[in-house]
Amino acid sequence: MYSKAQTDIRSLTRAELGDRLTAAGFPAYAAAEIFRWIYRKRVEDFGRMTNISRPHRAHLADNYYFSTLEKARRFRSADGTEKYLFRLADGPAIETVLIPEGKRRTLCVSSQVGCRFACRFCCSGRSGWKRDLTAGEIVGQVLSAESPATNLVFMGMGEPLDNLDRVLKAIEIISDPAGIGLGRRKICLSTCGLVQPLKKLIALSPSFKIALSLHSTDEKVRAGLMPVSGKNPLSQLVQVLESWTRKNPGALTLEYLMLAGTNTAPEDAHRLSRLARRLRAKVNLIPCHATGSGFDPPPPVEQRHFRDELVGRGIFATLRRSRGEDISAACGQLGLSALKPS
Ligand code: SAH
Repeated sequence: MYSKAQTDIRSLTRAELGDRLTAAGFPAYAAAEIFRWIYRKRVEDFGRMTNISRPHRAHLADNYYFSTLEKARRFRSADGTEKYLFRLADGPAIETVLIPEGKRRTLCVSSQVGCRFACRFCCSGRSGWKRDLTAGEIVGQVLSAESPATNLVFMGMGEPLDNLDRVLKAIEIISDPAGIGLGRRKICLSTCGLVQPLKKLIALSPSFKIALSLHSTDEKVRAGLMPVSGKNPLSQLVQVLESWTRKNPGALTLEYLMLAGTNTAPEDAHRLSRLARRLRAKVNLIPCHATGSGFDPPPPVEQRHFRDELVGRGIFATLRRSRGEDISAACGQLGLSALKPS
């Protein structure tokens, strides 16, 4: 057990750790050495960090600890997708999904326990928000995946912009070349669209990718699907994003859930292509997954037709193949296994 006075060492960026350690009399390179032990050699015991002096190892053990994510369950889909259910130290569970595809292994991480925003088609928000994850718990998901991820998406449970500071810290730690060293362009933050934190993020000119969960270009239809958009209108989100996408063409993806009878008319495709062009964005079409929400995907021919409409207008659009649906690991399904008795 650890005491309150101790700090989870995996929740600190290298700069933060370095500041603390130099103040405690460590040499300047100590933080980089410790990052190598933790993130490359995966050592969770300060006693084994043999190139750190004995008194300094004792200082580390007295002042720092390693947060634990207990892998309570592991699910494997017929398509190779894996889902991990982690039990956090204070009890609640989160889910992380690893999706292999060719040479890529995309890890989909959670940023919160539950979610405040209750999009009508998604089950992660159904039982509300419980708490934010710490940076260490986000980093821990990356370390606990059974094979190293080549790509990272914040598309698991929770809303990353609602826990922005910790998410940014986690991204800094995960992309640090002294540690895991995952390239920022391999990282994507997906958001339902919160104007204020989005402004704050864009002001930092992020070098990772952003995905906006759009789902409709019509403010009224969007508000009907996503209550969050009432106070966070699309017009404002677009304004904030435009300044960034002008300098970073292709860095934004518009995620578009296809919902039968709701958002897949030809006029929707036209408006979506105009917006994608304005934001220099790719479009990722996602057939709605079953979450017991009452929404259904349109038939596959209609899905392809909608995609072809966009492609015909010069938009880079992909139709996402659903992965891991048999283990409730697909988009919008996270939280189902935690809720369902097994
Ligand atoms: N809160 C963030 C990230 C988590 S959701 C966000 O909203 O972007 C990740 C993606 O899954 C989002 O695009 C979300 O809209 C989508 N999603 C939610 N429910 C879904 C469902 N039933 N079928 C398919 N995708 C869904």
